[in-house]
Amino acid sequence: MNKGKKLYEGKAKILYGTKDKDLIIQHFKDDATAFNNLKKSSVEGKGVLNNRISEHILSNLSQCGIKTHFIKRLNMREQLIKKAEIFPIEFIVRNIATGSLTKRLGIPEGTVLNKPLLEYCFKKDDLNDPLISKEHIFSFEWATEEDIKEIDKMTLRINDILIGLFRGIGIKLVDFKIEYGKTWNKDTEKKEIVLADEISPDTCRLWDSKTEKKLDKDRFRKDLGNIIQGYQEVARRLGIMPEETNISEVNFGKTIPIKFKKK
Ligand code: 5GP
Repeated sequence: MNKGKKLYEGKAKILYGTKDKDLIIQHFKDDATAFNNLKKSSVEGKGVLNNRISEHILSNLSQCGIKTHFIKRLNMREQLIKKAEIFPIEFIVRNIATGSLTKRLGIPEGTVLNKPLLEYCFKKDDLNDPLISKEHIFSFEWATEEDIKEIDKMTLRINDILIGLFRGIGIKLVDFKIEYGKTWNKDTEKKEIVLADEISPDTCRLWDSKTEKKLDKDRFRKDLGNIIQGYQEVARRLGIMPEETNISEVNFGKTIPIKFKKK
């Protein structure tokens, strides 16, 4: 599949058109940003790992009946996805209190929530992606009540599946952000809601179950170092590692060359 023109460049990804108007190529960059672009860096190998981890997670979700935009991984940094009209909303799920929740409401860090907490943020960098209510969503017609009902159900199901997937490899799924879009389904000739964007250590908080060591983008946000090692640890435990790459695996201090699995 040949890359067409660049359609959009975000902080961590670039989208390219293809010959097929319904298909897009999603390219994962190594760029890392935090605090609405105030902190920027390049983390070598991050894009390769996120491409592979997101492929793995979205494929697993798809096998559990969740509709996603993902079609196939094309190479180390790129995947073929369905074109979707993205809702201008970030859907956040929290299982354990940390991050902006603790700052905003003073909930003690690490509090295990009685049930998953769903939050909505307006996707608007200039405004720092502000927290919004469902009423804002309906008032400004960012999605319909029907859409949100379906999305909330999908989101809770995704959370259940991912909690299990990560628990199996000794990782706590603390919280995560997902996005949804609408795509055209040729078979049903109707638009349908699909999970879009990515699910990776860039978009989730993942803590080692025993030590609570952070294996996600908080290593970058909080200057904890060993960022790529955290992402590699997630990929290693998921049983996936990208094909040939020059990233070497530093196992928290000890450098070991990676053995790669061919797909
Ligand atoms: P918080 O609101 O505590 O900063 O983030 C909650 C969760 O959503 C975290 O897992 C965080 O990684 C994810 N998240 C929230 N907003 C964004 C965003 O703009 N980009 C990315 N990559 N993740 C986000």
